[in-house]
Amino acid sequence: MISCKRASRLASEKQERSLTLKERFLLRWHLLYCAGCRRMVKQFEFLSEATRGWMSHKD
Ligand SMILES: [Zn+2]
Repeated sequence: MISCKRASRLASEKQERSLTLKERFLLRWHLLYCAGCRRMVKQFEFLSEATRGWMSHKD
């Protein structure tokens, strides 16, 4: 079990590097029982999608 703090750090690191298998498992496991972090991860994913979309529109 990991804390919300650890989960949110993993979720943000996921945007910059690929997580290890263990980290992915820990994060996914945490998200199963933590609705707050699920929302947070969605936000991260939305932001990174938005950024990607913006980047690709640039050229
Ligand atoms: Zn959490």
